[in-house]
Amino acid sequence: MAQATQAEKLSGSRYSAQDGLLLAVDDLHVEFRTHEGVAKAINGVNFELHEGETLAILGESGSGKSVTAQAVMGIVDSPPGFVTGGEIRYCGQDLLTMPEEQRRGIRGPEISMVFQDALSSLNPVFTVGWQIGEMFRIHRGMNKTDAQEQAVRLMERVSIPGARQRVKAFPHQFSGGMRQRIMIAMAIALDPAVLIADEPTTALDVTVQAQIMDLLSELQEERKMGLILITHDLGVVADVADRIAVMYAGRIVEHADVYDLYARPGHPYSKGLLESIPRLDQKGTQLAAIGGLPPNLTRIPAGCSFNPRCRYAADVCRVDPPPPLREIGHRWRSACHFAEEVLAGTAEVTKGTLDGVVQPDPAADELEPSAGATAMPNEGDRR
Ligand code: ADP
Ligand code: MG
Repeated sequence: MAQATQAEKLSGSRYSAQDGLLLAVDDLHVEFRTHEGVAKAINGVNFELHEGETLAILGESGSGKSVTAQAVMGIVDSPPGFVTGGEIRYCGQDLLTMPEEQRRGIRGPEISMVFQDALSSLNPVFTVGWQIGEMFRIHRGMNKTDAQEQAVRLMERVSIPGARQRVKAFPHQFSGGMRQRIMIAMAIALDPAVLIADEPTTALDVTVQAQIMDLLSELQEERKMGLILITHDLGVVADVADRIAVMYAGRIVEHADVYDLYARPGHPYSKGLLESIPRLDQKGTQLAAIGGLPPNLTRIPAGCSFNPRCRYAADVCRVDPPPPLREIGHRWRSACHFAEEVLAGTAEVTKGTLDGVVQPDPAADELEPSAGATAMPNEGDRR
């Protein structure tokens, strides 16, 4: 008999993944109707997630990473946000057209999310044990004592020292790293098939970042979850991701196995992100950050949305939108007019990266640090 899939193993789950395919996002569009105009936040995003796979979604602040996650979770801030097109299939069923009641049964037990800011996601007036236990009380109908026992077990699983004593402590009595562990405990409580972690380590120091990444990676392997790691920091995900989707202005511009992309990016934006990382294996190389900022999504440039910041931009890039993601190698797709040349290193440089860039918009929201990181994945550590 075929081995039960992750989704089938879930107690009471009505969903099962065909050929291990958990999530299929197809031509997703999301827009925000604001007083400034319509912000086209997601403009035709496609990706798939399989059991046991870790997909990193990478891009600078404002590229549409969180909105993609919110669309999958069904929590887009609406209004002003509206999903205006596409499909999001979970185990074959379209989340966008199913009744809200059915969707509620998926959010949490099947697809779960860890948010960036653990302190504001936890309720300060309830103990952490009560908040973790809530998952079991609400979704599994457990009594208070049993739910608390489950909370202790989960706190132990995410390595919170003295879990049994601290189950009755309040969020502010924990460090940032420990609070993030508590958020992870809540997110995995119901054994979801898909876990989305949105910038799970941004607020943490480097050592704690690595520990949280290790924990997520361990849990993903143990439970054969599909894991989506959202980040603006390439270095944080390098060792744990299998696949990487690079986002710019609401589109995936390159999608590849993580080591292929690291070795030889096939889109000028990915190339720029990589070059802004200090690389241990290329000592003395000058760092070249990408000039300018991503566009205001109410005024996306004509042609390729990256063209004002692209060192290879030619006339065609200012006029024609690039082709949708097309194959440039094995499981490797890019949305650039000159993808093959970029990959081969033969693309013609038409301008310095700082010419003609989008200048910072003083009215823009405060920005997170741009994508970039500190380290490369270990050579030979290919998974
Ligand atoms: P990031 O890649 O940093 O996670 P987001 O997905 O949060 O970016 O946002 C992408 C864009 O979507 C923003 O730049 C903004 O234009 C728009 N957006 C997101 N949330 C809202 C909102 N609540 N109201 C209006 N616009 C929004
Ligand atoms: Mg975000």
